[in-house]
Amino acid sequence: MPRPIRAVIHTAALQHNLALAKSLAPQSSILAVIKADGYGHGMLRVAEALKDAEGFAVLRAEEGVALREAGFQQTILLLEGAFDADDIVVAAQHRLALVVHNEDQIRLLEQAQLPQPIAVFIKINTGMNRLGFLPTRFWAAYDRLKTCRNVRNMALMTHFATADEAVGIAEQLDRFNSLTEEINLPKSVANSAALIRYPEVRLHWVRPGIMIYGSSPFADQSAQEIGLKPAMSLTSRIIATQDMSPGSTVGYGRLFRAELPVRVGVVACGYADGYPRHAPTGTPIWVAGKRTRTLGRVSMDMLYVDLTGIPEADVGSPVELWGEHVSVDEVAMSSGTVGYELLCALAPRVPKEQD
Ligand SMILES: *Cc1c(COP(=O)(O)O)cnc(C)c1O
Repeated sequence: MPRPIRAVIHTAALQHNLALAKSLAPQSSILAVIKADGYGHGMLRVAEALKDAEGFAVLRAEEGVALREAGFQQTILLLEGAFDADDIVVAAQHRLALVVHNEDQIRLLEQAQLPQPIAVFIKINTGMNRLGFLPTRFWAAYDRLKTCRNVRNMALMTHFATADEAVGIAEQLDRFNSLTEEINLPKSVANSAALIRYPEVRLHWVRPGIMIYGSSPFADQSAQEIGLKPAMSLTSRIIATQDMSPGSTVGYGRLFRAELPVRVGVVACGYADGYPRHAPTGTPIWVAGKRTRTLGRVSMDMLYVDLTGIPEADVGSPVELWGEHVSVDEVAMSSGTVGYELLCALAPRVPKEQD
């Protein structure tokens, strides 16, 4: 029998979450963000499930090419644009749209010899201070791109730093709107958090990522409360049990010490599978149909669970690390991170299945 861990990708959940995004922003076109291998779910599999989306956003030119080769015809945007001159040629050959976020990329575009002009999304830095033209440098960039023979059409975009937090987006959105209000081009500002919370950002394109996968972008609102369904279930099985007497400990560092007799299950899943090593004792986990908790330190290939109150659990019992019964966001919260990181960190050695 193969090692029992697997990630099941739920096609119906991906489609449900896309439909929810669409229902929130019915006038917008959806640029489904499938970077990082579809947030760990498998890029092509996700694209196939989301084929009704008007576009896809990825990071690397190879990803765009793979999507074209798989037959996808819609808009494909490279979110950081070209990293070198070759990327621009590949983009033109495969009709990939490019973010343009600095003067260097404009120069590469101006100098390129292309079979056909390409579509660009000009990125404006309204306060994230990661990528994009500051408002003071925007007009010069815009004029150069407008007159560049290699540019077919343009759109304008920005990205919010705190769409998921109480302070919200007002300051950045004001800056974007006052800069661009006179320009009649397609605009795009919303990630999942902004799309869910702020109707005023449902512009021509919206860019949902995490919500598509059924994880919440917020610390104060669960995916379930938003109406999202988890697109990944990470499951495995118990491969050993240990009956521990008071005073005995489990695992590296002896981090968990039994006060009372306790039956412990050993699960075939560890940090080399993408489960966070920082998950402390008490992280929720689902075993043989019941919620329980992890114990002790996560090993490379295994972790421990408390079988108190689950006498029917034994070697072979099913375990859900995250999915429909324990959300990835709960595991992330317990481990001091976010669902994004756990989904993206799913290890290649975990076989993926799809339903
Ligand atoms: C990753 C990314 C998104 C998607 O963000 P979520 O929080 O996952 O919805 C949107 N826009 C840009 C520019 C991104 O890099």
